[in-house]
Amino acid sequence: MKYITNKDIARLFYSIAAAYTVKNGDRFKIVAYEKAADSTEKATSELKDLWEEGNLDSVPGIGKGIKGHLDELFKTGKVKHFEEIKKDLPPAMFDFLDIPGMGPKTAYILASKLKLKNIADLENAARNGKIRKLAGFGEKSETEILASISQFKQKVNRYPLTFAFPVAERIVNYLKQERYCYEAIPLGSLRRMVATVGDIDIAVSSDNPQKVIEHFKKFKENARILGAGPMASSVVLKNGMQIDLKVLAQDSFGALLQHFTGSKNHNIALREYALKKGMSLSEHGIKFHGKIYKFKDEKSFYKFLGMEYIEPELREDSGEIEAALKSKLPNLVKIGDIKGDIHLHSSYPIEPSHDLGTGSLEAIVKKGKELGYEYVGLSDHSPSVSNHSKQQIVDLIKRRTEVIEQIKASEKDIRILNLLEIDVLANGELSVPEEGLKLLDGSLAGIHSSHNQPRELITKRILKACESPYVNVISHPTNRLLLQRDSSDANWQEVFKVCVKTNTMLEINAWPNRLDLPDILVKEAIGAKVKLIINTDAHDTAQMDNMEFGVSVARRGWAEGKDIANTLPWLEFSKIFGV
Ligand SMILES: [Zn+2]
Ligand SMILES: [Zn+2]
Repeated sequence: MKYITNKDIARLFYSIAAAYTVKNGDRFKIVAYEKAADSTEKATSELKDLWEEGNLDSVPGIGKGIKGHLDELFKTGKVKHFEEIKKDLPPAMFDFLDIPGMGPKTAYILASKLKLKNIADLENAARNGKIRKLAGFGEKSETEILASISQFKQKVNRYPLTFAFPVAERIVNYLKQERYCYEAIPLGSLRRMVATVGDIDIAVSSDNPQKVIEHFKKFKENARILGAGPMASSVVLKNGMQIDLKVLAQDSFGALLQHFTGSKNHNIALREYALKKGMSLSEHGIKFHGKIYKFKDEKSFYKFLGMEYIEPELREDSGEIEAALKSKLPNLVKIGDIKGDIHLHSSYPIEPSHDLGTGSLEAIVKKGKELGYEYVGLSDHSPSVSNHSKQQIVDLIKRRTEVIEQIKASEKDIRILNLLEIDVLANGELSVPEEGLKLLDGSLAGIHSSHNQPRELITKRILKACESPYVNVISHPTNRLLLQRDSSDANWQEVFKVCVKTNTMLEINAWPNRLDLPDILVKEAIGAKVKLIINTDAHDTAQMDNMEFGVSVARRGWAEGKDIANTLPWLEFSKIFGV
């Protein structure tokens, strides 16, 4: 029986939620399966392994009923009850769910009415104008479906950085248990901390490659060995990712690292520069006047070329070589510079428009102290506007404020900001009336609906939020979801200008599939003198550890400590909020 990965399980749960949706089934069940799928995707261990160890209970969001189904799945490879539910639905509709933006009902109509068998059929139907003939569809739907399919094709075998990073970390830690593994470092886009990465490549320095490769082949997450030579090996992990290992002697390790870290564009530009000086570069070293010079580390490699060491995050051929030659590279912000996190969701029952967090207000404060922070901002979503009157919203905020004031009074080791993450509604209004905003120390404002509005409207919404004296931060400004949803379109230069004028910060949101602002906009925002802030948007205290991913985005955007507001000590930071 094929190893059942978390990806398979999440897909299965989503398909059951979709089947219930199409059949107008129990809302409660739909939500339960969507939650189970979500927590399976986020799980750091394979559920199959946890099940074997009897530790399935450690995964949150999977109830007793679903656990029973998993038991059957792992024992027999299928779940009778699931097959029953899906029996009378066209199988292709479940494949269509992998296409970004495709909902269960649309997938069902397309698959059943047009008798489609797979995504290739769907693509043909859209190309040949067959979809516009269905009720409720038009030419525009065909264009959108084709665009989504091309997006889907691009994302196959790409993973969010935040998913790949811990996998690579586990492999590196495992490799280091072998005493002949002197160094183990991920290569390529992962080392450069690009928001999405493909396969994982790892370089090892060793003078006994065979020992390292034998050890690597025994890694417990391996599903299959694809190949192993004297200096390299490839495996596929149980989670479906491919890992390539390269082993090299210590004395040439620097050139190898440099060569395979990329980016391609950086290396091309570097090679051109080197050629002018009569040098040629390769993974083995630098050839100069007929002799190959070897390098133990990258620092000496770049030094030989007559330039400053370039951090991997900067290697994109976006001016870093020129800067390195003039010793003008930025002094990049580091995780240790961060003194607080102010986008944190708790389980406080504020009856919000979006998800509650799982940890209490107190638990967040405690975790903030563990991380050595000087301050945390408690920023739950605001009460939902559809279920509450303005007065009810104010009353809910009042009650929460009283609770937070008590926590503040009892805390000496860390400062606390009473914030909310408020919605910038589709019409540009904020989701909290002024009377409610006045009760807070400040707020973050974010777009949580109608992300696809035209550029002009999105820009207007953001600008309006910036203009409010109660809004300090625009959260996840582009609203992208990596590999799922593109960025909202906005006039960013205009947004930057107004941010500077109104003292509004733009957030670098470290939530695993946001990493938003994207690095390119980070660099532009810094150029426009906008203040940035890095937050985790944690909905669980454990997610407060994601800060390093936000820092990596900032670094890729050339950010120094002075560009990031939450590198400021409390005394200065608090002035922004006037507290
Ligand atoms: Zn948000
Ligand atoms: Zn949030």
